[in-house]
Amino acid sequence: MKITEIHVYSHQLPVKNGPYVIASSKVSSLDSTLVKIVTDTGLVGWGETCPVGPTYQPQHALGARAALAEMAQGLIGANPLHPLALRRRMDGLLNGHRYAKAAVDIAAYDLMGKHFGVRVADLLGGAVTERVPSYYATGVGEPDDIARMAAEKIAEGYPRLQIKIGGRPVEIDIEVLRRVWEKARGTGVRLAADGNRNLPTRDVLRLSRECPDIPFVLEQPCNSIEEIAAIRGQLHHGIYLDENGEDLATVIRVAGQGLVDGFGMKVTRIGGLHAMATFRDICEARILPHTCDDAWGGDIIAAACTQIGATVQPRLMEGVWLAQPYIDGHYDTQNGVKIEGGHIALPKGPGLGVVPDDGIFGAPVASFG
Ligand SMILES: [Mg+2]
Repeated sequence: MKITEIHVYSHQLPVKNGPYVIASSKVSSLDSTLVKIVTDTGLVGWGETCPVGPTYQPQHALGARAALAEMAQGLIGANPLHPLALRRRMDGLLNGHRYAKAAVDIAAYDLMGKHFGVRVADLLGGAVTERVPSYYATGVGEPDDIARMAAEKIAEGYPRLQIKIGGRPVEIDIEVLRRVWEKARGTGVRLAADGNRNLPTRDVLRLSRECPDIPFVLEQPCNSIEEIAAIRGQLHHGIYLDENGEDLATVIRVAGQGLVDGFGMKVTRIGGLHAMATFRDICEARILPHTCDDAWGGDIIAAACTQIGATVQPRLMEGVWLAQPYIDGHYDTQNGVKIEGGHIALPKGPGLGVVPDDGIFGAPVASFG
């Protein structure tokens, strides 16, 4: 099988009841990049990458499309059934930019699944569940609002809540966590407090010292691995790395040095499903729990995250977060991926199990072939 055409699309995803507020950004509409790969067999595969605005990480929407433009012509003729060779070919065309390469990788897995008549989860080692746990991220908000939201989401069946903190006096974050714990205690729901790189070490130390009885994990509280390493020994809470988990080499370093207790991991940041499967296996070897999600994105990203999420050993699975609750409508009106009862049904069809409706993304912004 050979790639004969690559089409790149831009698609706006307005935030329902927005804006969505995290310590590092406030976003009202996300610019998603879709990749459609056409092959000489007539089979088509879809990929997607959607940074949650330009300040969450260095990745941004126009950067993804520039990187794809840099690589796309050089990928014509490549065999999408060989994801490792495809990744090496992309690395030979452009240094870095894993989040753009991820869209091609995801499209290749979609094609592989369709070609072999199996789901992407089968290609990634096999699903251990048909009902993948999700988690709910609250956004940064006032104690009353976040406590009310936490109670609602626990009642809906979410097994885990991620409380966004940071960007304000730490007393308010402490109050939010206390109020959420009043709702979560005894329910078995797990908690994470996500600072999105924003807290000074001083505030993380205080937050941990003043909440030793609340069993949350601290997700990416500080901006760098060095800051986290400096205070790790003084904390009462586990530390997960998210934004700083930029590549497999970093994952190996922090896992090997015992700097983290787990990860929030994004499929596109690490480079796509092929790299994500390697990441999953490294985590399993060191018994490190992790999420399998992305910063934002529509049904293609949602399906990719759910397919890899379904293969993670249940005891290490911290959930698949989806932007779906913040997005109106689906790319695929029949098989759109959604959270129900805090869980996601693994799509049934071959490949990603999601096929965008005809013409939904309009004309491509760039075409190669
Ligand atoms: Mg996070």
